[in-house]
Amino acid sequence: MSHPSHEFASAFTPSDETPGVASPAIDDQERYSRQILFAGIGSEGQQRLARAHVAIVGCGATGAAAASLLARAGVGTLTLIDRDFVEPSNLQRQILFDESDALQSLPKAEAARRKIAQFNSGITVHAHVTDLVPSNIAELLGGAQLILDATDNFETRYLINDFAVQQGKPWIYAAAIGAYAATMNVLPQTDSAAPWQPTACLACLFPKPPSGPVETCDTAGILSTAVNLAASIQVTEALKLLTDQAKLMRRTLFSFDLWSNERSEVSAACPRSGCTVCGERAFTHLAGKGRAHITLCGRNSVQIHEHHRPVDFAAMRDRLAPHGVVRFNDLLLRFERPPHTLTLFADGRAIIQGTTDMTVARSLYARFIGS
Ligand SMILES: [Zn+2]
Repeated sequence: MSHPSHEFASAFTPSDETPGVASPAIDDQERYSRQILFAGIGSEGQQRLARAHVAIVGCGATGAAAASLLARAGVGTLTLIDRDFVEPSNLQRQILFDESDALQSLPKAEAARRKIAQFNSGITVHAHVTDLVPSNIAELLGGAQLILDATDNFETRYLINDFAVQQGKPWIYAAAIGAYAATMNVLPQTDSAAPWQPTACLACLFPKPPSGPVETCDTAGILSTAVNLAASIQVTEALKLLTDQAKLMRRTLFSFDLWSNERSEVSAACPRSGCTVCGERAFTHLAGKGRAHITLCGRNSVQIHEHHRPVDFAAMRDRLAPHGVVRFNDLLLRFERPPHTLTLFADGRAIIQGTTDMTVARSLYARFIGS
C-alpha cells in the first residue's frame, strides 16, 4: 500500500482456511433465510449482496451501526475508514465497541473489523486507520461501488461528494445530532447507462459548507436512537441500490427529529443547473484547495496529520518514558503528560487531547515526536 494507512485484512476470510481441515461454518442459506424470505431481497438479491463492496467513511456511531447492519445483511466486502480510537464516551451509542476496546484505545476501524469477524466470518472487511484526504481517496474508495458517509464533518463530506461525482459513484449522506437524523442519496451522472436517473449532489443543495460554529455531538449531545435511525435509513437505501433497485431509492433530503417528531423533506430529485460540482465539474475539495493540515476533532483535541512517516513505537517509548506515562500496542502509542495526552498512530499522525490551540499542539508534537 503506498498510502500511509494501515490495512488489516480480515483474518477470517474463506481463503485463510487450511485445505483439508474441516471447520464448523454457518450455512449461508440458513443465516440469511429471513432476509431471503423478504420479497424485496429474495435469493437473487442475496447473491448480489454477497458480490457487493461498500465503503464506509467514518466508524463512529453512524459508521459502526451501518457496518453492523451491512455485515449482518451479508454484503460481501466492506471497507472501513476511520482516523480515531475508541473512548469510554463512545460506548453509549457506538454499537460495535465494548469496554475492552475503550480501555485499550483500539483504533475504531480495527475494533470494528474484529467485532464483525465474530458475527460474520464469511465476509471480507478491510480496515484503514487513517484520515480520508485527497491524496488517498482514490485508493481507499476506488474499489467500492457505493460510499456511505458516516463522518462528523462537512470538509470530508464535500471531499466525498467531489470524488463520487467525478467517478459517477453513488454515495449516501447521513448525519445525526441530538435527537435529529438526516440522510440523502446522491446518485451522480455516469458515462455508462446507469440504472438510475441522477439526483442532486450535496453541492446542489448546499453550495458552500456551513460557516461559523457547527453543533457536534460533543456540544449538543446525541441520542443513540437518532444515530440508529440515520444508519437504518441509509443502509436500507444501500440495500436497494446493491440489489439493482435504484428506482426505489428516495430522492429527497430527509430529516426526522425523534424528540419533537418533526420531519422534513427537501427535494433532491434533479441536479441543480449551475452547480459547480456536478454541473461545471469543478472539484475543488478533491484538488485539496483550502484544506488545513491540522483539523480540530471537536472535543478539546487537535489532530496533526501533515507528518507522514513510519514510527518505531518501541524506540519512541524509550525516548518519551522520562517525560510522562507511555503505553503502546502494534496500532498506536499513548503518551500522557498532564494536561495533555498525545496519541500517535503508526503513520506519524497524532491526536493531541487537552488543547484546542493549534500552536500548542504543534509545539508538543515538535518537542516530543519531532518536527
Ligand atoms: Zn450538484
